[in-house]
Amino acid sequence: MAERLAAQYGQRVLLVDRRSHIAGNAYDEYNADGILIHRYGPHIFHTNAQRVVDYLSRFTAWRPYRHRVLASVDGMLVPVPINLTTLNRLYSLDLSPEEAEAFLAARAEPIANVRTSEDVVVGKVGRELYEKFFRGYTRKQWGMDPSELDRSVTSRVPVRTTAEDGYFNDEFQCMPLEGYTRMFEKMLAHPNIKVMLNTDFKEIRAEVSFRKLIYTGPIDEYFDHCLGKLPYRSLAFRHETLDQERFQSLAVVNYPSEDVRHTRITEYKYLTGQQHAKTSITYEYPSDEGDPYYPIPRPANAELFKRYEALAEAHPEVTFAGRLGSYRYYNMDQVVAQALSLVERIAEREALKQSA
Ligand SMILES: Cc1cc2nc3c(=O)[nH]c(=O)nc-3n(C[C@H](O)[C@H](O)[C@H](O)COP(=O)(O)OP(=O)(O)OC[C@H]3O[C@@H](n4cnc5c(N)ncnc54)[C@H](O)[C@@H]3O)c2cc1C
Repeated sequence: MAERLAAQYGQRVLLVDRRSHIAGNAYDEYNADGILIHRYGPHIFHTNAQRVVDYLSRFTAWRPYRHRVLASVDGMLVPVPINLTTLNRLYSLDLSPEEAEAFLAARAEPIANVRTSEDVVVGKVGRELYEKFFRGYTRKQWGMDPSELDRSVTSRVPVRTTAEDGYFNDEFQCMPLEGYTRMFEKMLAHPNIKVMLNTDFKEIRAEVSFRKLIYTGPIDEYFDHCLGKLPYRSLAFRHETLDQERFQSLAVVNYPSEDVRHTRITEYKYLTGQQHAKTSITYEYPSDEGDPYYPIPRPANAELFKRYEALAEAHPEVTFAGRLGSYRYYNMDQVVAQALSLVERIAEREALKQSA
Protein backbone atom coordinates (compact mmCIF):
# COMPACT_ATOMS: atom_id res chain seq x y z
CA MET A 1 0.00 0.00 0.00
CA ALA A 2 2.92 2.32 0.78
CA GLU A 3 4.41 1.68 -2.64
CA ARG A 4 1.18 2.29 -4.56
CA LEU A 5 0.27 5.41 -2.57
CA ALA A 6 3.74 6.84 -3.13
CA ALA A 7 4.43 5.77 -6.70
CA GLN A 8 0.96 5.93 -8.22
CA TYR A 9 -0.62 8.73 -6.22
CA GLY A 10 2.38 10.84 -5.19
CA GLN A 11 1.57 10.57 -1.49
CA ARG A 12 4.22 10.86 1.21
CA VAL A 13 4.27 7.75 3.37
CA LEU A 14 5.81 6.99 6.73
CA LEU A 15 6.04 3.24 7.24
CA VAL A 16 6.42 2.24 10.87
CA ASP A 17 7.22 -1.22 12.18
CA ARG A 18 7.94 -2.20 15.74
CA ARG A 19 10.23 -4.95 14.56
CA SER A 20 13.82 -4.25 13.56
CA HIS A 21 13.14 -5.05 9.90
CA ILE A 22 10.72 -4.63 7.01
CA ALA A 23 8.80 -7.43 5.23
CA GLY A 24 6.62 -8.57 8.16
CA ASN A 25 6.39 -12.30 8.60
CA ALA A 26 7.74 -12.88 5.11
CA TYR A 27 11.13 -11.54 6.26
CA ASP A 28 14.09 -13.62 5.14
CA GLU A 29 17.75 -13.12 5.97
CA TYR A 30 21.18 -14.65 5.58
CA ASN A 31 22.15 -16.29 8.88
CA ALA A 32 25.65 -16.36 10.42
CA ASP A 33 26.64 -19.18 8.05
CA GLY A 34 25.41 -17.31 4.99
CA ILE A 35 22.31 -19.43 4.39
CA LEU A 36 19.08 -17.68 3.42
CA ILE A 37 16.42 -18.56 6.00
CA HIS A 38 12.91 -17.36 6.81
CA ARG A 39 12.88 -15.99 10.34
CA TYR A 40 9.15 -16.61 10.80
CA GLY A 41 8.91 -20.04 9.23
CA PRO A 42 8.69 -21.17 5.60
CA HIS A 43 6.92 -18.81 3.21
CA ILE A 44 6.00 -20.27 -0.14
CA PHE A 45 4.43 -18.05 -2.74
CA HIS A 46 1.50 -19.51 -4.68
CA THR A 47 -1.44 -17.83 -6.35
CA ASN A 48 -4.03 -17.89 -9.10
CA ALA A 49 -4.23 -14.10 -9.18
CA GLN A 50 -2.41 -12.82 -12.26
CA ARG A 51 -2.83 -9.26 -11.05
CA VAL A 52 -0.82 -10.09 -7.93
CA VAL A 53 1.91 -11.82 -9.95
CA ASP A 54 2.13 -8.86 -12.34
CA TYR A 55 2.39 -6.41 -9.49
CA LEU A 56 5.07 -8.28 -7.53
CA SER A 57 7.03 -9.03 -10.71
CA ARG A 58 7.92 -5.35 -10.85
CA PHE A 59 10.09 -5.92 -7.79
CA THR A 60 11.42 -9.43 -8.21
CA ALA A 61 12.32 -12.15 -10.65
CA TRP A 62 11.11 -15.63 -9.74
CA ARG A 63 12.47 -19.10 -9.14
CA PRO A 64 10.03 -21.87 -10.03
CA TYR A 65 9.39 -24.05 -7.01
CA ARG A 66 6.65 -26.64 -6.67
CA HIS A 67 5.93 -27.43 -3.03
CA ARG A 68 5.59 -31.02 -1.82
CA VAL A 69 5.29 -32.19 1.77
CA LEU A 70 5.90 -35.51 3.49
CA ALA A 71 4.47 -36.56 6.83
CA SER A 72 6.21 -38.80 9.32
CA VAL A 73 3.56 -41.40 10.21
CA ASP A 74 4.08 -44.83 11.78
CA GLY A 75 7.82 -44.55 11.18
CA MET A 76 7.36 -43.88 7.45
CA LEU A 77 7.54 -40.76 5.31
CA VAL A 78 4.40 -40.45 3.19
CA PRO A 79 2.97 -37.67 1.01
CA VAL A 80 0.46 -35.16 2.40
CA PRO A 81 -2.20 -34.25 1.41
CA ILE A 82 -3.10 -37.94 1.54
CA ASN A 83 -2.87 -39.39 -1.96
CA LEU A 84 -2.65 -42.76 -3.68
CA THR A 85 1.03 -43.17 -2.71
CA THR A 86 0.19 -42.39 0.93
CA LEU A 87 -2.41 -45.14 1.09
CA ASN A 88 -0.30 -47.69 -0.75
CA ARG A 89 2.79 -47.05 1.35
CA LEU A 90 0.97 -46.90 4.66
CA TYR A 91 -1.02 -50.09 4.16
CA SER A 92 1.46 -51.96 1.89
CA LEU A 93 -1.10 -52.02 -0.90
CA ASP A 94 -1.02 -51.54 -4.64
CA LEU A 95 -4.34 -49.80 -5.19
CA SER A 96 -5.37 -48.16 -8.45
CA PRO A 97 -7.02 -44.71 -8.25
CA GLU A 98 -10.47 -46.34 -8.51
CA GLU A 99 -9.63 -48.81 -5.77
CA ALA A 100 -8.28 -46.00 -3.59
CA GLU A 101 -11.56 -44.18 -3.98
CA ALA A 102 -13.45 -47.29 -2.86
CA PHE A 103 -10.95 -47.78 -0.01
CA LEU A 104 -11.66 -44.28 1.33
CA ALA A 105 -15.41 -44.52 0.69
CA ALA A 106 -15.53 -47.72 2.76
CA ARG A 107 -13.85 -45.94 5.69
CA ALA A 108 -15.50 -42.53 5.49
CA GLU A 109 -18.19 -42.08 8.12
CA PRO A 110 -21.11 -40.14 6.68
CA ILE A 111 -21.95 -37.22 8.96
CA ALA A 112 -25.28 -35.52 8.41
CA ASN A 113 -24.48 -32.14 9.92
CA VAL A 114 -20.82 -31.29 9.35
CA ARG A 115 -19.92 -28.68 11.96
CA THR A 116 -16.38 -29.24 13.19
CA SER A 117 -12.99 -30.00 11.67
CA GLU A 118 -13.26 -33.54 13.00
CA ASP A 119 -16.58 -34.03 11.16
CA VAL A 120 -15.02 -32.83 7.89
CA VAL A 121 -12.08 -35.24 7.98
CA VAL A 122 -13.82 -38.28 9.47
CA GLY A 123 -16.56 -37.75 6.87
CA LYS A 124 -13.94 -37.82 4.10
CA VAL A 125 -11.36 -40.44 5.11
CA GLY A 126 -12.63 -42.20 8.25
CA ARG A 127 -11.41 -42.25 11.81
CA GLU A 128 -8.10 -44.11 11.42
CA LEU A 129 -6.56 -41.76 8.85
CA TYR A 130 -8.06 -38.84 10.75
CA GLU A 131 -6.16 -39.93 13.84
CA LYS A 132 -2.91 -40.62 12.01
CA PHE A 133 -2.77 -37.37 10.04
CA PHE A 134 -5.10 -34.75 11.47
CA ARG A 135 -5.99 -35.19 15.12
CA GLY A 136 -2.52 -34.82 16.68
CA TYR A 137 -1.37 -32.21 14.17
CA THR A 138 -4.44 -30.07 14.77
CA ARG A 139 -4.25 -30.46 18.54
CA LYS A 140 -0.65 -29.28 18.45
CA GLN A 141 -1.21 -26.53 15.89
CA TRP A 142 -4.30 -25.01 17.48
CA GLY A 143 -4.10 -26.21 21.08
CA MET A 144 -7.60 -27.55 20.59
CA ASP A 145 -9.18 -30.79 19.54
CA PRO A 146 -10.54 -30.77 15.94
CA SER A 147 -13.95 -31.47 17.46
CA GLU A 148 -13.82 -27.96 18.98
CA LEU A 149 -12.64 -26.22 15.81
CA ASP A 150 -14.71 -24.72 13.06
CA ARG A 151 -15.01 -26.88 9.97
CA SER A 152 -13.26 -24.19 7.89
CA VAL A 153 -9.88 -25.17 9.40
CA THR A 154 -9.67 -28.52 7.64
CA SER A 155 -12.29 -28.21 4.91
CA ARG A 156 -9.61 -26.93 2.55
CA VAL A 157 -7.41 -30.00 3.07
CA PRO A 158 -7.71 -32.01 -0.13
CA VAL A 159 -7.55 -35.79 -0.29
CA ARG A 160 -6.47 -37.32 -3.59
CA THR A 161 -6.83 -40.75 -5.06
CA THR A 162 -4.17 -40.16 -7.71
CA ALA A 163 -0.40 -39.98 -7.24
CA GLU A 164 -0.49 -36.16 -7.65
CA ASP A 165 1.70 -34.89 -4.81
CA GLY A 166 1.76 -31.10 -5.20
CA TYR A 167 0.85 -29.34 -1.95
CA PHE A 168 -0.82 -26.42 -3.71
CA ASN A 169 -3.04 -26.43 -6.79
CA ASP A 170 -2.31 -22.83 -7.79
CA GLU A 171 -1.19 -21.96 -11.32
CA PHE A 172 1.69 -19.82 -10.16
CA GLN A 173 4.10 -21.35 -7.66
CA CYS A 174 7.44 -19.60 -7.34
CA MET A 175 9.85 -18.10 -4.85
CA PRO A 176 11.22 -14.56 -5.24
CA LEU A 177 14.62 -15.13 -6.81
CA GLU A 178 16.62 -13.05 -4.33
CA GLY A 179 14.23 -13.54 -1.43
CA TYR A 180 11.28 -11.67 0.07
CA THR A 181 13.23 -9.02 1.94
CA ARG A 182 15.00 -7.96 -1.26
CA MET A 183 11.61 -7.74 -3.00
CA PHE A 184 10.22 -5.50 -0.25
CA GLU A 185 13.38 -3.36 -0.22
CA LYS A 186 12.84 -2.64 -3.91
CA MET A 187 9.17 -1.87 -3.24
CA LEU A 188 10.05 0.66 -0.56
CA ALA A 189 12.93 2.31 -2.46
CA HIS A 190 10.88 5.36 -3.36
CA PRO A 191 11.80 8.91 -2.35
CA ASN A 192 8.30 9.48 -0.92
CA ILE A 193 8.57 6.55 1.50
CA LYS A 194 10.34 6.84 4.83
CA VAL A 195 10.80 3.73 6.93
CA MET A 196 10.93 3.88 10.72
CA LEU A 197 11.84 0.60 12.42
CA ASN A 198 11.97 -0.48 16.08
CA THR A 199 9.04 1.82 16.69
CA ASP A 200 5.60 0.96 17.91
CA PHE A 201 2.95 3.09 16.27
CA LYS A 202 1.65 4.01 19.71
CA GLU A 203 4.99 5.59 20.62
CA ILE A 204 4.76 8.16 17.85
CA ARG A 205 1.02 8.47 17.43
CA ALA A 206 0.81 11.80 19.27
CA GLU A 207 3.88 13.21 17.58
CA VAL A 208 3.18 12.74 13.90
CA SER A 209 0.41 14.33 11.95
CA PHE A 210 -1.19 12.37 9.15
CA ARG A 211 -4.25 12.45 7.00
CA LYS A 212 -4.70 8.76 6.65
CA LEU A 213 -3.57 5.79 8.72
CA ILE A 214 -3.22 2.26 7.40
CA TYR A 215 -2.99 -0.06 10.36
CA THR A 216 -1.73 -3.63 9.82
CA GLY A 217 -1.43 -4.57 13.49
CA PRO A 218 -4.08 -6.45 15.48
CA ILE A 219 -7.34 -4.50 15.33
CA ASP A 220 -8.15 -5.25 18.99
CA GLU A 221 -4.79 -3.81 20.06
CA TYR A 222 -5.54 -0.59 18.18
CA PHE A 223 -8.64 -0.17 20.33
CA ASP A 224 -6.75 -1.10 23.53
CA HIS A 225 -8.65 -4.41 23.70
CA CYS A 226 -11.67 -2.46 24.90
CA LEU A 227 -14.08 -5.23 23.88
CA GLY A 228 -11.78 -8.05 24.95
CA LYS A 229 -8.82 -9.83 23.35
CA LEU A 230 -9.06 -11.52 19.96
CA PRO A 231 -7.35 -14.90 20.43
CA TYR A 232 -4.34 -15.82 18.32
CA ARG A 233 -2.19 -18.90 18.04
CA SER A 234 1.54 -18.31 17.98
CA LEU A 235 4.66 -20.28 17.11
CA ALA A 236 8.15 -20.62 18.49
CA PHE A 237 10.87 -21.29 15.91
CA ARG A 238 14.05 -23.23 16.59
CA HIS A 239 16.55 -22.46 13.84
CA GLU A 240 19.54 -24.77 13.46
CA THR A 241 22.43 -24.99 11.04
CA LEU A 242 23.92 -28.42 10.50
CA ASP A 243 27.36 -29.29 9.24
CA GLN A 244 25.99 -31.45 6.45
CA GLU A 245 24.73 -30.68 2.98
CA ARG A 246 21.22 -32.10 3.36
CA PHE A 247 19.01 -32.97 6.31
CA GLN A 248 15.80 -34.30 4.71
CA SER A 249 14.64 -35.16 1.20
CA LEU A 250 12.46 -32.10 0.58
CA ALA A 251 11.62 -28.70 2.04
CA VAL A 252 8.99 -29.61 4.63
CA VAL A 253 8.31 -32.72 6.70
CA ASN A 254 5.23 -32.69 8.95
CA TYR A 255 5.09 -34.47 12.30
CA PRO A 256 1.43 -35.15 13.11
CA SER A 257 2.12 -37.37 16.12
CA GLU A 258 1.72 -35.94 19.62
CA ASP A 259 4.84 -37.89 20.66
CA VAL A 260 6.95 -34.93 19.48
CA ARG A 261 6.20 -31.29 20.19
CA HIS A 262 7.11 -29.81 16.81
CA THR A 263 4.61 -29.78 13.95
CA ARG A 264 7.09 -29.60 11.09
CA ILE A 265 10.71 -29.18 10.05
CA THR A 266 11.70 -27.00 7.11
CA GLU A 267 14.98 -27.16 5.21
CA TYR A 268 15.40 -23.87 3.37
CA LYS A 269 17.84 -24.79 0.61
CA TYR A 270 15.04 -26.62 -1.21
CA LEU A 271 13.00 -23.42 -1.28
CA THR A 272 15.78 -21.07 -2.23
CA GLY A 273 17.90 -23.32 -4.44
CA GLN A 274 20.98 -22.13 -2.58
CA GLN A 275 24.11 -24.29 -2.83
CA HIS A 276 26.00 -24.53 0.46
CA ALA A 277 28.11 -27.12 2.27
CA LYS A 278 25.93 -26.69 5.38
CA THR A 279 22.16 -26.64 5.69
CA SER A 280 19.69 -24.67 7.85
CA ILE A 281 16.48 -26.06 9.25
CA THR A 282 13.65 -24.77 11.43
CA TYR A 283 11.48 -26.62 13.92
CA GLU A 284 8.05 -25.09 14.62
CA TYR A 285 6.44 -25.33 18.05
CA PRO A 286 2.91 -23.98 18.24
CA SER A 287 2.15 -21.98 21.35
CA ASP A 288 -0.33 -19.64 22.99
CA GLU A 289 2.42 -17.20 23.87
CA GLY A 290 4.27 -14.95 21.45
CA ASP A 291 3.59 -12.87 18.36
CA PRO A 292 0.05 -13.15 16.98
CA TYR A 293 0.21 -15.40 13.89
CA TYR A 294 -3.00 -17.33 13.35
CA PRO A 295 -6.44 -15.91 14.11
CA ILE A 296 -8.36 -18.74 15.76
CA PRO A 297 -11.38 -19.52 13.58
CA ARG A 298 -14.24 -19.99 16.04
CA PRO A 299 -17.68 -18.39 15.81
CA ALA A 300 -17.25 -16.43 19.09
CA ASN A 301 -14.02 -14.88 17.76
CA ALA A 302 -15.65 -13.92 14.46
CA GLU A 303 -18.41 -12.24 16.47
CA LEU A 304 -15.90 -10.28 18.54
CA PHE A 305 -14.06 -9.22 15.39
CA LYS A 306 -17.34 -7.95 13.94
CA ARG A 307 -17.79 -5.75 17.00
CA TYR A 308 -14.32 -4.30 16.49
CA GLU A 309 -15.15 -3.74 12.84
CA ALA A 310 -18.21 -1.78 13.90
CA LEU A 311 -15.96 0.38 16.10
CA ALA A 312 -13.63 0.90 13.14
CA GLU A 313 -16.49 2.31 11.07
CA ALA A 314 -16.48 5.35 13.33
CA HIS A 315 -12.84 5.99 12.29
CA PRO A 316 -12.87 6.44 8.50
CA GLU A 317 -9.38 7.99 8.67
CA VAL A 318 -8.03 4.54 9.60
CA THR A 319 -7.92 1.60 7.20
CA PHE A 320 -7.36 -1.76 8.86
CA ALA A 321 -5.49 -4.10 6.57
CA GLY A 322 -3.64 -7.39 6.39
CA ARG A 323 -3.90 -10.56 8.37
CA LEU A 324 -4.01 -8.88 11.79
CA GLY A 325 -6.12 -5.90 10.80
CA SER A 326 -8.69 -8.21 9.16
CA TYR A 327 -8.39 -11.05 11.73
CA ARG A 328 -8.29 -13.49 8.83
CA TYR A 329 -5.93 -16.22 7.77
CA TYR A 330 -4.63 -14.57 4.59
CA ASN A 331 -1.81 -15.95 2.51
CA MET A 332 0.68 -13.52 1.02
CA ASP A 333 -1.06 -13.31 -2.33
CA GLN A 334 -4.40 -12.59 -0.65
CA VAL A 335 -2.80 -9.83 1.40
CA VAL A 336 -1.29 -8.28 -1.72
CA ALA A 337 -4.65 -8.49 -3.51
CA GLN A 338 -6.35 -6.87 -0.53
CA ALA A 339 -3.71 -4.12 -0.43
CA LEU A 340 -4.13 -3.29 -4.13
CA SER A 341 -7.93 -3.09 -3.77
CA LEU A 342 -7.77 -1.03 -0.59
CA VAL A 343 -5.48 1.52 -2.23
CA GLU A 344 -7.96 1.89 -5.08
CA ARG A 345 -10.77 2.39 -2.61
CA ILE A 346 -8.80 4.99 -0.66
CA ALA A 347 -7.79 6.80 -3.85
CA GLU A 348 -11.40 6.98 -4.94
CA ARG A 349 -12.73 8.09 -1.57
CA GLU A 350 -10.04 10.72 -1.10
CA ALA A 351 -10.07 11.72 -4.78
CA LEU A 352 -6.31 11.19 -5.06
CA LYS A 353 -4.80 12.14 -8.40
CA GLN A 354 -2.59 9.69 -10.24
CA SER A 355 0.97 10.92 -10.48
CA ALA A 356 2.26 8.07 -12.65
C1 LIG B 1 4.60 -19.74 10.04
C2 LIG B 1 3.92 -19.03 8.91
C3 LIG B 1 4.02 -19.56 7.65
C4 LIG B 1 3.38 -18.94 6.58
N1 LIG B 1 3.53 -19.48 5.34
C5 LIG B 1 2.96 -18.89 4.28
C6 LIG B 1 3.13 -19.44 2.98
O1 LIG B 1 3.80 -20.47 2.80
N2 LIG B 1 2.54 -18.81 1.94
C7 LIG B 1 1.80 -17.67 2.10
O2 LIG B 1 1.31 -17.12 1.12
N3 LIG B 1 1.64 -17.12 3.33
C8 LIG B 1 2.19 -17.70 4.42
N4 LIG B 1 2.03 -17.15 5.66
C9 LIG B 1 1.19 -15.94 5.78
C10 LIG B 1 2.00 -14.66 5.62
O3 LIG B 1 2.92 -14.54 6.66
C11 LIG B 1 0.99 -13.49 5.67
O4 LIG B 1 0.09 -13.60 4.60
C12 LIG B 1 1.64 -12.14 5.58
O5 LIG B 1 2.72 -12.01 6.45
C13 LIG B 1 0.59 -11.11 5.92
O6 LIG B 1 1.13 -9.85 5.79
P1 LIG B 1 0.60 -8.68 6.70
O7 LIG B 1 1.27 -7.46 6.21
O8 LIG B 1 -0.87 -8.74 6.79
O9 LIG B 1 1.09 -9.03 8.17
P2 LIG B 1 2.50 -9.25 8.83
O10 LIG B 1 3.47 -9.89 7.87
O11 LIG B 1 2.23 -9.94 10.11
O12 LIG B 1 3.03 -7.78 9.09
C14 LIG B 1 2.46 -6.95 10.05
C15 LIG B 1 3.56 -6.06 10.57
O13 LIG B 1 2.96 -5.07 11.39
C16 LIG B 1 3.82 -4.83 12.46
N5 LIG B 1 3.04 -4.23 13.55
C17 LIG B 1 1.95 -4.74 14.17
N6 LIG B 1 1.49 -3.89 15.11
C18 LIG B 1 2.32 -2.82 15.09
C19 LIG B 1 2.36 -1.60 15.83
N7 LIG B 1 1.48 -1.30 16.79
N8 LIG B 1 3.36 -0.72 15.54
C20 LIG B 1 4.28 -0.99 14.59
N9 LIG B 1 4.27 -2.13 13.85
C21 LIG B 1 3.30 -3.02 14.10
C22 LIG B 1 4.39 -6.18 12.82
O14 LIG B 1 5.60 -6.04 13.53
C23 LIG B 1 4.56 -6.82 11.45
O15 LIG B 1 5.86 -6.65 10.94
C24 LIG B 1 2.62 -17.76 6.78
C25 LIG B 1 2.53 -17.23 8.06
C26 LIG B 1 3.15 -17.85 9.13
C27 LIG B 1 3.02 -17.27 10.50
